[in-house]
Amino acid sequence: MDFVKSFFLDLLFPRLCFGCGKEGRWICSLCLPKVNWIKFPFCPNCRKLTIKGEYCQSCAGKFFLSGMIVCARYDDAVIKKAIHHFKYEHFFDIGRILGKILAERLATEKNKEGFLIIPVPLHNLKKAQRGFNQAEILAKVVALSSDRPYLSNILVRQKYRRPQMELSREKRLENLKGSFCWLGGDLKRAEVILVDDVATTGATLEECAKVLKKSGAGEVWGLVLAHG
Ligand SMILES: [Zn+2]
Ligand SMILES: [Zn+2]
Repeated sequence: MDFVKSFFLDLLFPRLCFGCGKEGRWICSLCLPKVNWIKFPFCPNCRKLTIKGEYCQSCAGKFFLSGMIVCARYDDAVIKKAIHHFKYEHFFDIGRILGKILAERLATEKNKEGFLIIPVPLHNLKKAQRGFNQAEILAKVVALSSDRPYLSNILVRQKYRRPQMELSREKRLENLKGSFCWLGGDLKRAEVILVDDVATTGATLEECAKVLKKSGAGEVWGLVLAHG
């Protein structure tokens, strides 16, 4: 059934590469390497280069999040288009491609065992409006590809907030206070990878990390497609 559905969807909406427009794949093998990938991880707060995207020496200790693993810059046109089509035009198979990109990045940065994979939650109202939570789709692909446990609907977003595009990092953090809640038990030092599509200031990841740490989590890392 899925095959028939995707056959007709392909006829109606052929996959055109977001980079060169050639038919076949959403991101073709020639355009994929040209994406503005982040080659040098940086401190999520001051952007000084660090080894794995952890906070630098001067910023360490001030945050709950251990660091951020970022695939690409958000100003990259191909990644931006891919995320947009996935989120707002509901081309779910793009989610699989983007999830694989996240999984590959995670494999190079975190090859040790462990880590629970948790998507950044959307408020139920927002999820109902959009019809899905893009972070859940991405996180599921990451968990499957990396053979790690996937936990959703345990970290929940309980407050509905207006979009906070124009706010500074401090204002966003203030605005997000008390937005998230962990419904599970003691995390017993379990390490967590929080998955989202985009991080603008990292304030959402930080607020989630706070809640998880207060519920007993060990390291909490953010894993996002794009930053900026
Ligand atoms: Zn292309
Ligand atoms: Zn720093």
